[in-house]
Amino acid sequence: MNRAILHVDMDAFFASVEIHDNPALTGLPVVVGGDGGRGVVAAASYAVRAFGVHSAMPMREAHRRCPQLVVVRPRMERYKEVSRQVFALFREVTPLVEGLSVDEAFLDVTASRQLLGDELTIARALKQRIHAITGLTASIGIAPNKLVAKIASDLDKPDGLTHVPPERVQAVLDPLSVSKLWGLGPKTLPRVHAAGIHTFKDLRTASEAQLWAAFGRHGAAMRARASGEDERAVEPDWQELQVSAEETFDRDLTDPAALMAALTALADRACARVRAKGWEAGTVTVKLRRSDFRTFTRQRSFSPPTADTQAVLHLAASLFTTWHREQGLPAVRLLGVGLGGLVPASQLDLLAQPAGRERGEQPHHHGHDRGSTDSVVDAIRAKFGPGAVRRANVMERPEERADGFTEVRRKD
Ligand SMILES: [Mg+2]
Repeated sequence: MNRAILHVDMDAFFASVEIHDNPALTGLPVVVGGDGGRGVVAAASYAVRAFGVHSAMPMREAHRRCPQLVVVRPRMERYKEVSRQVFALFREVTPLVEGLSVDEAFLDVTASRQLLGDELTIARALKQRIHAITGLTASIGIAPNKLVAKIASDLDKPDGLTHVPPERVQAVLDPLSVSKLWGLGPKTLPRVHAAGIHTFKDLRTASEAQLWAAFGRHGAAMRARASGEDERAVEPDWQELQVSAEETFDRDLTDPAALMAALTALADRACARVRAKGWEAGTVTVKLRRSDFRTFTRQRSFSPPTADTQAVLHLAASLFTTWHREQGLPAVRLLGVGLGGLVPASQLDLLAQPAGRERGEQPHHHGHDRGSTDSVVDAIRAKFGPGAVRRANVMERPEERADGFTEVRRKD
């Protein structure tokens, strides 16, 4: 299956935020940056770019090129706030978000297509969402890989949307200036031009001698890039991608039953959060801190990914029990359950109704109605609050497990 990668880049980000927040600046030659003697343009509005002003230019030079320049001091906190909004919108589309800066990211939407429509539909909807929530525009490039997506997002700025399907990669890249190629800095460029290479096509079809003259031993790699070849995966920020729940106990716990009850509640919380986002997890991590403050983590993977509380709990409990025994049943100060390797929930899972779900079809669903039980629990909590339903073994004493709540969790 072809990958579908989006490169999303906010247009003139800092300057656009300032103009959005202060509409009196609309249409004026606005730059964001320090205006002292050694100030530099941090962001240039589209109006000021007509004067040849661009980011990273010394502010003095910007004033020279555009005497009516409007300089706005940077407000990093505000940009970060908008950045968080935008990245939250990215993560509505896919958990596979690789941020490149505050206003730019790769999104792997390959699997999202199953749920959200083709990549073009996803990109259009994302642009609309970004505009609706922030009032700002973004340019998006869609391509089978990161290299082409990044080039594509730049072809139609601002407010652009450029789709380069696999069969069009060569036609789109060939005429471009080789200076747009990733990894080709201004220092190398004169040598590349001297070798007779000016466009992507020149590089794609260059002779070995030309390649060697321009790039030395990197020739083959650069030719592959000019051909639009790029196998690099979108590498999400795993920190952000871990959904976790943890608890520090008022007093250290030693009783295995009490620890298991705590673990159950944590697994349940983490799973509910993952399900609420429409995701499934590929790994579970159990975090453990002994009373002497030594901290341990134990991790295992699922295949296929799941957001099913019982499946997660099953692995988490075995990780915990093994660790607890190895350690000689120590008192525990903190427990945590983290879910990582997040992917969008498969359409199969979302569409499958309890009655129609075949036994054995999804190996991680051990009971035929477990998925529906989780969704019932989630729905009740959404309505009545997180405390409305508790998992059976969250109950403090085992004999309480026979009460009404256990109906919700019963397997068969
Ligand atoms: Mg940008």
